[in-house]
Amino acid sequence: MAKPKIIIVGGGFAGLAAAKALRKTPAKVDLIDRTNHHVFQPLLYQVATSVLTPSQIATPIRSVLRNHENTTVILGEVTGVDKDRKCVFFSDADRQNVPIAYDYLVLATGASHSYFGHNQFAEYAPGLKSLADAEAARNKILQAFELAEAEEDPSRHRDLLTFILVGAGPTGVEMAGALAVFVRTTLKSDFRRIDPRSARILLVDMASRVLPPFSESLSRAAKQRLENLGVEVRLGHSVDQIDADGIVVAGERIASKTVIWTAGVAPSPAGKWLNVETDRAGRVRIQKDLTVPGHPEIFVVGDTASLDQNGKPLPGVAQVAIQQGRYAGKLIHNRVVGSPAPGPFNYFDKGSMAVVGKGFAVLQTGKVQVSGFLAWLTWAAVHLQFLATSSLRLSVFLQWVWTYVTGQRGDRLIVNHLGAEYAKAAADATIKPAFAGR
Ligand SMILES: Cc1cc2nc3c(=O)[nH]c(=O)nc-3n(C[C@H](O)[C@H](O)[C@H](O)COP(=O)(O)OP(=O)(O)OC[C@H]3O[C@@H](n4cnc5c(N)ncnc54)[C@H](O)[C@@H]3O)c2cc1C
Repeated sequence: MAKPKIIIVGGGFAGLAAAKALRKTPAKVDLIDRTNHHVFQPLLYQVATSVLTPSQIATPIRSVLRNHENTTVILGEVTGVDKDRKCVFFSDADRQNVPIAYDYLVLATGASHSYFGHNQFAEYAPGLKSLADAEAARNKILQAFELAEAEEDPSRHRDLLTFILVGAGPTGVEMAGALAVFVRTTLKSDFRRIDPRSARILLVDMASRVLPPFSESLSRAAKQRLENLGVEVRLGHSVDQIDADGIVVAGERIASKTVIWTAGVAPSPAGKWLNVETDRAGRVRIQKDLTVPGHPEIFVVGDTASLDQNGKPLPGVAQVAIQQGRYAGKLIHNRVVGSPAPGPFNYFDKGSMAVVGKGFAVLQTGKVQVSGFLAWLTWAAVHLQFLATSSLRLSVFLQWVWTYVTGQRGDRLIVNHLGAEYAKAAADATIKPAFAGR
């Protein structure tokens, strides 16, 4: 009898966990991803703030699954699903909308940025979701210092050295803390005309406190820590405008050349492909066995799925994605080999953490709430443990020790310095076109 065909779309946390659970399944597994690498998104902000290099937080999916003899990795973009014909359509550099048939389908396509209906903000306030985003943010931050150093008129330095992060969830808080440490330690002796320590870092959110998923006392501790690091935290007002000159918040214009979007996320279009019920955010409503109602062969997992537990929707975090991916893989394996199905999916919450600058984190697990150095050590240990390979774990550990001891960071290269983005930044800053266009 022909082996069943399983397609996994997405090599993020959920897709990889599903593939790993299917390693010994007598089936033909195809994992399709539009990038060739798995990214450890929780450390993207460390690439954006020059602590780590892109290759320290990402690894080729093909190499992670190299010992999975039943699995083929395909680089391509899935563009749709035909539930009746049981096939997905994918495109690559060569071909468009090629159908591939499946017996079981696992959609693990994650999420992208949401500008809450203000898509025009995207041009001026890039988000942080992929390696390319993190490199672009790093370039933008480093360029701002270069532009300020090259600028003879000191009155322009303040605008160039104002950095605004929109969104005070974990990503915004972690990024603001890392940026504050970066300007006050790593960069402090590197410039002659400007003092990087004078950089202004603002964290803006319409919520009334930072880190809304955490308890109020941990939120307060994180805010206090940010303020001690010199970050201005502006809460309770949404951003009305973002353009080439900065932002407008609560009627006040704040001039800045570097605005980063660390706010909302929107799920992938999986719900549209399947034409099934979604929640208000557009995530596919799934059942307790992680399948789509009426389609026991289609699983949707991770950030692109919506499932309630104890009356509340599960959060879009890596642990949910990993546990769901693993469950979907196990359930498919059991069906293929004829074993009884596992009980309904039940998320085990191991807790939440966010790091705020050097040597400080907040940690919440069950009734335990801790902030400070011990929480930071736990944060570091847990993040190292979840990196995809042991070589990444070693490399990141050594870099962290080096950065902790010396204040120096891993990657301060502006890789697109002669590219289009630099030309645009230079043009905005009225640098001579001959230099910008070279
Ligand atoms: C900056 C940042 C910081 C975060 N920090 C934390 C944290 O500290 N702790 C935590 O628990 N969670 C954190 N998260 C959330 C966590 O990373 C996500 O919940 C998790 O990545 C979701 O896993 P996933 O597999 O559903 O999606 P992803 O990991 O996003 O993977 C989706 C995959 O699908 C691929 N894909 C998407 N569309 C297609 C398509 N059409 N065709 C082919 N491939 C496609 C993508 O290339 C990607 O590889 C953070 C997220 C971000 C962005």
